Amino acid sequence: MKKTKSILVDSFGREHTYLRISLIERCNLRCTYCMPEEGVQLSPRSHLMTYEEIYEIAKTFVAHGVTKIRLTGGEPLIRKDLAFILEKLSSLNIELSITSNAVIIDRFIDTLRHNGVKNINVSLDSLDREKFKEITRRDEFEKVYQNILLLVSEGFNVKVNAVLIKGFNDNEIIDFINLAKNLPISVRFIEFMPFDGNKWDLKKMVSYKEVMEKVNKEFSEEQIERLEDAPSDTSKNYKITGYKGSFAIISSVTNPFCDSCNRLRLTANGQLKNCLFSSSESDLLTTLREGKSIESVIKKAVTAKLKIRGGMDTMEKLKNPQLHSKNRSMITIGG
Ligand code: SAM
Ligand code: SF4
Repeated sequence: MKKTKSILVDSFGREHTYLRISLIERCNLRCTYCMPEEGVQLSPRSHLMTYEEIYEIAKTFVAHGVTKIRLTGGEPLIRKDLAFILEKLSSLNIELSITSNAVIIDRFIDTLRHNGVKNINVSLDSLDREKFKEITRRDEFEKVYQNILLLVSEGFNVKVNAVLIKGFNDNEIIDFINLAKNLPISVRFIEFMPFDGNKWDLKKMVSYKEVMEKVNKEFSEEQIERLEDAPSDTSKNYKITGYKGSFAIISSVTNPFCDSCNRLRLTANGQLKNCLFSSSESDLLTTLREGKSIESVIKKAVTAKLKIRGGMDTMEKLKNPQLHSKNRSMITIGG
């Protein structure tokens, strides 16, 4: 008998087993590359998924093959019912993880552990307090740094995400890598990506190649180990011999990993995005609220997924600001 194709397999044969759910559009930081200076138009509260709706939608994805869910935002920790959401999702027998700016994560250690969250990604773009303040528009460096140390000491797997911006923090690349000398963390450098209102400019982006040039200048060939990347990993992973941790580069701009993409994204207002860069969305929340099945909407959205970066398949298209403004700001997508 012919096996029916899963609703999570797209027309290029990519199987989507990883769902990223944004819990909230608001944040306690204001990172310049993520949130436009003037802020974003927030959805009315009634348009946001409740924790029951998040669970219902997640359950459908899991029934069709999702094995990993990452909670993001905005800042997921400022959502008041986070503990309920974690508890519901932890019953789904999936790998549950979270991406956070870690400003208040010390209050959630027990909740995270209790619900089986082991992998935590923390954003930190500078090791200098003043620069941290400049990029996040908030003076929270010390809290974030201490909370990274706390997470490590509490046994969580911590990845530190730094978005590199030329002339701003690219002189800290080696300092970031050295952070992994005594800490068992993975420091991940993310190429600056274009989204609505984030004043993206290719000239501000620090590429994979440029990061490696700095690394090769600082360390000898024998010291730099190329690690094996996990399947569908978006990062290229390295280790400096003798260091407890590792470092990686996420090169979405210069070297996209679309061929092995296994991700789908659900925004806080219940819209399914089949690609981070895609401007099209599918309204799962309204469908659910109308009492209809969301499966056909998911299937249609997955089938419509384009091969590369939501259709921005050339550098020319990626550089076109009109295409960025058709997409959301990152703060309302979730990274
Ligand atoms: N507030 C949480 C945090 O900052 O980790 C979760 C949400 S944030 C939108 C998720 C990730 O997206 C962060 O690692 C952030 O650095 C990344 N990000 C935001 N805007 C970006 C951009 N323009 N280019 C690359 N990464 C970006
Ligand atoms: Fe907030 Fe994270 Fe965006 Fe920074 S990157 S403004 S912490 S959502």
